[in-house]
Amino acid sequence: MTLLEVSMLTKKFGGLVALNNVNLELREDEILGIIGPNGSGKTTLFNIISGIYYPTSGSISFEGETISGKKPYVICRMGVARTYQLVRPFLNMSVLENVLVGACFGNGRKMDAACREEAMSILGMVNLSEYYKRPAGSLTVAQRKRLEIGRALATGPRVILLDEVMAGLNATEVDDIIALIKKIFETGIGACVIEHVMKAVSVLCNRTVVLNNGRLIFEGRPQEMSQNDEVIKAYLGTRRSEEVA
Ligand code: ADP
Ligand code: MG
Repeated sequence: MTLLEVSMLTKKFGGLVALNNVNLELREDEILGIIGPNGSGKTTLFNIISGIYYPTSGSISFEGETISGKKPYVICRMGVARTYQLVRPFLNMSVLENVLVGACFGNGRKMDAACREEAMSILGMVNLSEYYKRPAGSLTVAQRKRLEIGRALATGPRVILLDEVMAGLNATEVDDIIALIKKIFETGIGACVIEHVMKAVSVLCNRTVVLNNGRLIFEGRPQEMSQNDEVIKAYLGTRRSEEVA
């Protein structure tokens, strides 16, 4: 089954075409990797799927229902959650309160004992239980990234969009996030990951799409990507030997 379907999506910012007639889908049984050089339109794609921006043309559907044009909180309540490339937790609130915001804000739920218990179980999943009382501002970058994922999970999603959650992390921290994404997928949540860490892409993703200058230039298995001339020219380039497993 198709969870998300992006059809003929174009987004222009003035004269700049950030996305140019992009078609792609996220299927139920896969983690989809979204790859591409900086400025190729990856975050814009997430911004449109999550309702931050309206498309200039084209449409997006989630489980068969059109979501493009709906407000972000509506899309989130329908079951599409996301993380941000630049994580911004509420620094003065505790780690637990940050997750409670994800669980309760905008959907009318009371911050009652059940909600708190759910938030604690999410903190367990993202491996932050022992820090629940700490202010989010005291967390390391890697912990903040996991908190960001926890906040998104707290909204009870069917699909999660992860925007460069491994950027800036060391090898061990990357391995922890890879394990976490696998665990999330195993609970039945579909995942789309924007990622530059090629090791993670090859371990996690069944399928990848590559964007370049707003155009989709490749769709296929991660292993095929490193053999594709257009992808090598646009993205992998000289970094191929360093980054592609
Ligand atoms: P990526 O995430 O692949 O690095 P982005 O989607 O952030 O790329 O950006 C794609 C292009 O769209 C870039 O040229 C960027 O400068 C431009 N862009 C993104 N958001 C805006 C915006 N709100 N206003 C103007 N230009 C934007
Ligand atoms: Mg980006």
